[in-house]
Amino acid sequence: MKKHNFNSGPSILPQSVLQQSSEAVIEFNNTGLSILEIGHRTPFFVEVIEEARSLVKELMQLDDSYEVLFLHGGATTQFMQVPMNLLDTNETAAYCDDGIWGTKAYKEASLFGNVKVVASSKDKGYTYINKDFEVPSDAKYLHITTNNTVEGTQYHTIPNVSVPLIADMSSDIFSRQMDFSKFSLIYAGAQKNMGAAGVNVLVVKKDILGTITRPIPNIMDYRKHIEAGSLMNTPPVFAVYVALLTLRWIKESGGLAEMERSSIEKSNLLYHTIDTLPQFNCKIAVEDRSRMNAVFFMDDTNKEAEFLDLCKKEGMVGVKGYRTVGGIRVSMYNALPLESVVAFTDLMKRFASC
Ligand SMILES: *Cc1c(COP(=O)(O)O)cnc(C)c1O
Repeated sequence: MKKHNFNSGPSILPQSVLQQSSEAVIEFNNTGLSILEIGHRTPFFVEVIEEARSLVKELMQLDDSYEVLFLHGGATTQFMQVPMNLLDTNETAAYCDDGIWGTKAYKEASLFGNVKVVASSKDKGYTYINKDFEVPSDAKYLHITTNNTVEGTQYHTIPNVSVPLIADMSSDIFSRQMDFSKFSLIYAGAQKNMGAAGVNVLVVKKDILGTITRPIPNIMDYRKHIEAGSLMNTPPVFAVYVALLTLRWIKESGGLAEMERSSIEKSNLLYHTIDTLPQFNCKIAVEDRSRMNAVFFMDDTNKEAEFLDLCKKEGMVGVKGYRTVGGIRVSMYNALPLESVVAFTDLMKRFASC
């Protein structure tokens, strides 16, 4: 049976991307070699990574003051690499703590300099985005998590701040239109909205680099990666290729405008269903609800277990809430078709009526 894949990450990818990437494992672009066998400095792969880097810029409508890198490791690597490159020991960085990923990010930063948590929504179990904050004018940067994958909240307006803005966009990158030039640095692990695990995309405004005194190991130094055209050492070749295919798919499907339209349609349907069925409830402040990850509960926990069992039987994958949060989490990334949300909400209605 074909599954409805609501996994939170690694997560659903477009069928055409799976098809093309599997073909490339057998033979890449009539080279007589597998994508797994080609050298990363051959023209074949240089073309792949250059096209991927320029598609990122094109989709985000960024100019040449920005560089795009594909780096090893998950977003968790960036929790450390960002402050290592930007924050001197005696400087202060501001962080918004709206969920477990934001918490991890500021804790890592505190290993490199001073950290000021300027906003937190911990007081209400991270069920909203705390937008009421001030950033000290001498802060080196402000770090936010645009979408809180575990808790189910999302910034729907990007804060205006006078210091460089840095964002972990792991779970909502390329899901909506936005003025990306408001950010000085954006990073995301690929495995949620743009490909396979093992690679990060990093977009950085060059003028924020080179302002610290700490020596940085080459492999951690953004400037060294820029100089090397994102080919300082062997990149995760296959993961970069899958990212390229996904970026092409986004562009061919209508770009970020279409991703946004579709995610509004899908998430509106799901939240509307939750709000109209008394058995289900979503604790997230309405204005901060995530269009990528809906987190909600059933009043009766026995019923909830029964519902999750039914989901499993009906081929609905990945809908159990995060282990520390519980409840139900439905992830609706770019590649998830509307039909999957229709099938899921039909199941909710059927379950509620019996
Ligand atoms: C998944 C996720 C991470 C962690 O990503 P890894 O690639 O596993 O390190 C960090 N931030 C956010 C917002 C995430 O959704």
